[in-house]
Amino acid sequence: MAGESLCAECGLCCNGTFFAQVTLRSEEEIARVERRGLPVLRKTSSCVLPLPCPQHTGTACSIYEDRPEACAEFRCWLLRDVGSTLIGFDDALATIARLKVLATTIQAALGLDVRGQALFDAAAAFFDENDTLEARREHAALFLDMAEFLQIARRRFGIETDGPSTGKTTGPT
Ligand code: SF4
Ligand code: SF4
Repeated sequence: MAGESLCAECGLCCNGTFFAQVTLRSEEEIARVERRGLPVLRKTSSCVLPLPCPQHTGTACSIYEDRPEACAEFRCWLLRDVGSTLIGFDDALATIARLKVLATTIQAALGLDVRGQALFDAAAAFFDENDTLEARREHAALFLDMAEFLQIARRRFGIETDGPSTGKTTGPT
């Protein structure tokens, strides 16, 4: 199926690029996830699986049949658009590849440890907090990469900080 193949090439919603955590919805789910060796972070009002997820192998979810409900439900806009043939599979792959290049560049440039915060959130905050002409002149290439990264994430994948809750959230954990 095109969708599964696309996700196998992507993993951006599992590896800490878009989201910082996955909400676990029941004690049964928490126990199931713990049995599969995943870390669970218990908070006052919720339990979450922090991302990057150790079960993401780079090409697939290694506990696909046992993955949390929020993971099973999540469908980014790109996946939806491939499913409805609004965008071709190869174009979608090219979008994923471009976003990964930008993510790697930004992460290296910022020296970010994204654990606890999605790269998307970190980049959006950095972009807003350094909104001066001097900063943008000094780091022109980085700001261009960030602008493209944020635009693709928002417009092609539908990612928003604290956007409609999907169970996968940008964080912090
Ligand atoms: S970001 Fe979209 S295409 Fe990528 S793995 Fe997640 S659901 Fe699949
Ligand atoms: S359990 Fe699977 S689908 Fe969910 S975040 Fe981890 S690798 Fe991704």
